[in-house]
Amino acid sequence: MADLLIEGDLILTMDPDRRMIADGAVAVEGSRIVEVGKAAELRGRHASARVIPGRSKLVLPGLVNCHTHIFQSLYRGLGDDRPLQDWLRNVVYRLSGGLDLEGTRAAARLSCLEMIRTGTTTFADCYNMHVDKDGFHGCAEAVEESGLRALLARATGDLDPIPEPFREDVSTAVRECERMIERWNGRADGRITICPSPTNLMTSSNELVRTLKEMASHYKVGCHTHVASTLHNVNFVRKRVGKSYVEYLESLGVLGPDLLAAHCACVTDREIRLMRDTETRVAHCPVANSYLGYGVAPILTMLREGVVVGLGTDGAASNNCQDLVQSMKMCAILHKNHMLDPSALTAEKVIEMATIDGARALGMADRIGSLEAGKQADIILFDLNRPNMVPSLRPWSNLVYASGGADVDTVIVGGKVLVEKGRVLSLDEGEVMATAQEAIRALVERVGAQDLVRAGAWKIQ
Ligand SMILES: [Zn+2]
Repeated sequence: MADLLIEGDLILTMDPDRRMIADGAVAVEGSRIVEVGKAAELRGRHASARVIPGRSKLVLPGLVNCHTHIFQSLYRGLGDDRPLQDWLRNVVYRLSGGLDLEGTRAAARLSCLEMIRTGTTTFADCYNMHVDKDGFHGCAEAVEESGLRALLARATGDLDPIPEPFREDVSTAVRECERMIERWNGRADGRITICPSPTNLMTSSNELVRTLKEMASHYKVGCHTHVASTLHNVNFVRKRVGKSYVEYLESLGVLGPDLLAAHCACVTDREIRLMRDTETRVAHCPVANSYLGYGVAPILTMLREGVVVGLGTDGAASNNCQDLVQSMKMCAILHKNHMLDPSALTAEKVIEMATIDGARALGMADRIGSLEAGKQADIILFDLNRPNMVPSLRPWSNLVYASGGADVDTVIVGGKVLVEKGRVLSLDEGEVMATAQEAIRALVERVGAQDLVRAGAWKIQ
């Protein structure tokens, strides 16, 4: 007998048949879905369940954000309109050099709050550029407290061009990563997975990459890294090792179904086939790629070749928000425009990328990504009774092209209601926002970065 019954005008199950159920319901017992079907029938079978009413609601699996950096939310708005190296050096490195555990925690809680509010229930995070070895705890604690599900990659590098304070030798990287895996992997009722990560190949030696990959295999936790993000990246690696980025990853034994590769904006057709053959998964970040001018990732070729592609926001320093719904629209219209073809990518495909394909990209499709009996009850409800959602004859189209995360009404993770009628239950919103505001003020002061609070030719009086 279910204890929770979530109803809706329309349920997008995202199951293998892509069933949509009008006047449907999802029955939940504990943390799992036990039945999906017509509301009238399920109400009879689960009479004692608490009902979340579904009038004017679109119900779908929680969104899966396949790539972000939750520590970056404090940097929001400070890195606009800069070339990548300028953005890295003068904004991200500089601020990250002064980010301690408290600051990381404040940023991570803010990112989690924003994701919860905008319908993300699972995310993959890349925690890199850290000087405080305990800062990672701030990320994991935020996930535990917020109720979200996350793959937290503890990322590192040991080579120039990352500045010295962020570099770790292989033995330190291994020790610290094992410390975090032992402390956090499988915690929060299994919602947290910790994995090792070389941030990218420019800043990681062969030995570091190989060692972290071995650790990932040993703990069976997968591996997350940035792949061929920019031409600069690709050329740098080719100059150093004489191979293309993806070929180099292959030679290190890193490609495979347990690798989540972020960006892949500058991969060739040959590299895409290598990724297909090794079942490497991709996190596509259309907003961040555009914000920093990486170029358009060839994801249409990847999709045609059968590569699994999920969607990511990337961190708030390069997006600048954590709303995956916005990335869904960006993804669709970016590739339509790039191909000069409005049929290049459909709303249906983009919703797959944000749900079931995202779950596959994270290696979690056996647990999340669709509304099916036996899966975790990670469920979101969009309000269709909004000016931008009417008419709602094709609400899945409205979801991609007309809505935003602000239209999310209810969020459930593992059977626990985290947002109800737009109100966040697991975090104190006012306190999280005030703490973050205070943390960035203190950080800017500490590292002497007041010049980042600028407005071009505009003047603040
Ligand atoms: Zn990234």
